[in-house]
Amino acid sequence: MLDDAFAAELANLRDAYLGRLPEELSRIIDLARKLEEGDRSVLDELHMSLHKIAGSGGTFGLAELSESARMLEQRCKAFMSGEKDGIPDFLSELSSLQSSLPQSSAPDLPKSEAAEPDAVDERAARLWLVDDDDRSQNELPHLLEQFGYQVKFFRRFVDAESALSQDNPDLLIMGVSFAEEGLDATEEMLRRPVFKMMRCPILFVSDRGDFMTRLRAVRMGAQGFLMKPLDVPRLAEQLEQIFEKRNPASCRVLIVDDDEALSAHYRLVLMAAGMEVDVLNRPEEVIERVYEFHPEIVLMDIHMGHCSGAELAAVIRQHDAWVGLPIVYLSAETDLDEQIRAMGVGADDFLTKPISNAQLVAAVKVRAARAKQLSDLMSKDSMTGLLKHSRIKEELALELSRAQRSGKPMSVVMTDIDHFKKVNDTYGHAVGDRVIRAVAHLLKQRLRKTDIIGRYGGEEFVAVLPECDAETARRIMDDIRERFSQLRFRQDETEFGCTLSAGVACNLESPTADPSELLVSADEALYQAKHGGRNQVRIAHGRPNHGR
Ligand code: GH3
Ligand code: MG
Ligand code: MG
Repeated sequence: MLDDAFAAELANLRDAYLGRLPEELSRIIDLARKLEEGDRSVLDELHMSLHKIAGSGGTFGLAELSESARMLEQRCKAFMSGEKDGIPDFLSELSSLQSSLPQSSAPDLPKSEAAEPDAVDERAARLWLVDDDDRSQNELPHLLEQFGYQVKFFRRFVDAESALSQDNPDLLIMGVSFAEEGLDATEEMLRRPVFKMMRCPILFVSDRGDFMTRLRAVRMGAQGFLMKPLDVPRLAEQLEQIFEKRNPASCRVLIVDDDEALSAHYRLVLMAAGMEVDVLNRPEEVIERVYEFHPEIVLMDIHMGHCSGAELAAVIRQHDAWVGLPIVYLSAETDLDEQIRAMGVGADDFLTKPISNAQLVAAVKVRAARAKQLSDLMSKDSMTGLLKHSRIKEELALELSRAQRSGKPMSVVMTDIDHFKKVNDTYGHAVGDRVIRAVAHLLKQRLRKTDIIGRYGGEEFVAVLPECDAETARRIMDDIRERFSQLRFRQDETEFGCTLSAGVACNLESPTADPSELLVSADEALYQAKHGGRNQVRIAHGRPNHGR
């Protein structure tokens, strides 16, 4: 459906562009006529108009027109730097450009991207669990549901096989030995056609880890092989990694270009590839827009009427918060000096118009992924993938001022694992790390996409929940607390559980509080929770009394 709508909208854009073109060309010819009569003041506008056609023509399938416009643009530049020869020829060349306005072939649609947008999937992932082990049946579905998955259980291999011929889950967790049916899943799966047709990832859970079994699992294309008894938090971690790889976060692209038709076209192309796109045709609004939209990458035209892309990049770079924002020039500029000059003022890269749709999508994806990797390295804790201490404080300040402006509630939660020293002392630091990752994982799974989560210290976490009052935050955290307390961690032959405590502070309780006061309040509430016996969530009331 989406690709049909996309193709239709693209065709509309192209029709509109073609419809405007004759008028635009006669306007250009009028300008050239004035130039021929000796009026050099039209040169800037003439150059700019040709430059636009050179950039946009190719995108709308008019490669020849684009190429001629580019040559004329070069000539125009020469006139601008004082050359006078050839002005009369220029006019006749322009006229030929008009008469050669082609009934061109259809533009190149990025078919594969259009057909398969990387839609971000908000629903719970569906897991099918196939195993004839009692523990798998009685405990595992419930525990995996704690992590936000939807689980369907099959005790018999053959039942799963027939279900798979109808439908595929998002991921299959498969046992290896099915004693009741007398079969080995890794052997059967290689033999039966249903499993060859299957299109979801597989994870094996096994009580046998011999080489041949593992090899068959690899041949089935399995993404993992876990030994029983299962450590559920570790399994959940592996699931998270698999799903993260399959669903890369959508990328936010801001296009700054004064050519409305062309930027609308780019917008459609990038949106069809699953990106979130905002277009800005008026460069003077760039700062507001960057603050509102939080782009991960900016595509910027170099020549935009009264303001150049290089100037605009420099304006963006004046803001500390946006020093790391990747800015990529997307321009018909073929003059190497101009490109180098533009790069010198804070842009990171250069793409040249016309650019095919597929090239554009690929170029933006690669650059956005690299930028994300870099910014993650700087701002995220490598052990949990949550924001680092300093970043969560920045985010808190931002959200608090937003909440104060809108008059909406906003809550801060501080969470700390109970008696964590004992976990480290009894089971070792590596096991302690796994417990920390489990809390991080639960917070990520249970909180909303718009909530901001950070690792505040060793085993302390801070979450910022916009548009959430204290009571709602307490309920959400209490649910997470309950789920965490049900988890069982495993070390060699022993199993153990862990609990956590949390404190909630809401901006409405103390409307004038600054970010650090709000954090102190949350910390005081956490202290109350610890003091009250741990494994509980408390709400802070009033301003902090620093009495701790
Ligand atoms: P309480 O219930 O009062 O919070 O007791 P607690 O034992 O959790 O006390 P506290 O919060 O003071 O202990 C924190 C411990 O966490 C101390 C430190 O050795 C350990 N820790 C800090 N960072 C890490 C880490 O990255 N990994 C591991 N395994 N342990 C850590
Ligand atoms: Mg603790
Ligand atoms: Mg602590």
